[in-house]
Amino acid sequence: MTLRIGIIGTGAIGTDHARRINRVLSGAEVTAVTDVNRDSAEACVAGVAPGAQILGSAEEVIAASDAVLVCSWGTAHETQVLAAIAAGKPCFCEKPLATEAYGARRIVEAEEAMGRRLVQVGFMRRYDRGYVALKETVRTRLGPPLMIHAAHRNPSVPGRYRTPMAIHDTLIHEIDVLRWLLDDEYVSAQVIFPRATRHTHAGLRDPQIVLLETAKGVRIDVEIFVNCRYGYDIQCEVVGEEGTARLPEPTAIPTRLGAVFGQPILMDWKDRFIDSYDVELQDFLKAAAQGTAAGPSAWDGYAAAITADVCVQAQERPGAILPVTLPARPALYA
Ligand code: NAD
Repeated sequence: MTLRIGIIGTGAIGTDHARRINRVLSGAEVTAVTDVNRDSAEACVAGVAPGAQILGSAEEVIAASDAVLVCSWGTAHETQVLAAIAAGKPCFCEKPLATEAYGARRIVEAEEAMGRRLVQVGFMRRYDRGYVALKETVRTRLGPPLMIHAAHRNPSVPGRYRTPMAIHDTLIHEIDVLRWLLDDEYVSAQVIFPRATRHTHAGLRDPQIVLLETAKGVRIDVEIFVNCRYGYDIQCEVVGEEGTARLPEPTAIPTRLGAVFGQPILMDWKDRFIDSYDVELQDFLKAAAQGTAAGPSAWDGYAAAITADVCVQAQERPGAILPVTLPARPALYA
């Protein structure tokens, strides 16, 4: 059976996921799309989803599909995911699950009331081969993890990017993937600001360092530097009792040329985890065919949203250590 997939929001990632489903993955076809900007929906259909009908609302797309992808702007996610849950349809939601923690909480409650998992959140780093190998090394060889040193660097960001976006748009991936990597929960967060780069502006404090502590006592430092100039660079080193392990660098050809030993660094974030998008969506399609969802859950989206909210508060009180408090995990997400 070919799964009928609806896409809500056909911008950059919605169209890329449509291409992926129709041309790369198996078991599904994009049959309905919607976008508040009709030109965007038409471009998506013309480019990568010729068999899809363009519908006027998210609700119509949900009704016409076996499963849906929510790829609209973050502010629209909560309502659209709740509508998919109410219809009993598996739903892949791009991050963030909701823009505020209480919105994510409502999604968790709705899913609990349905009694089965229907939501997968687009935390694709969990599907990255490098992170998967790092997690396995940490689990089997490193002894108990003690510290993580991580960095999330972008060459530059658009002028509309402001200080809190360093948490909601950038750190959110580390918040999720490091919690998953350690199989642990955050208990506190602190933000400190080093000397600012001259490449930033009044609305963006850059770089920043976020310090997280977990329930098991692991200390994590994440440097966020979104105007670093030289490349898109994701670093992660885990220090354990028996040794250390690093996230592998993306594959690139090292050269010895003109008296220089060199290795290229990616510039575009889209290229860094490109393979993991295929794996995460195939995982979604596999579970959706059974009428359910797997992978990063609404609970993971909620935990990330709570932590992100505390980190933003910590940005407003540099140096203060603020508690991160998660409610008890419902049985559905055990
Ligand atoms: P985009 O602006 O290119 O596309 C979003 C599209 O959604 C636009 O075409 C817009 O018209 C449409 N839209 C907005 N509100 C809508 C609504 N209420 N109903 C229907 N359509 C609506 O943005 P993007 O880069 O594709 O990002 C979309 C989402 O995906 C964001 O939440 C973003 O954070 C997330 N994202 C995740 C990753 C990742 O690495 N996992 C990467 C990129 C984007």
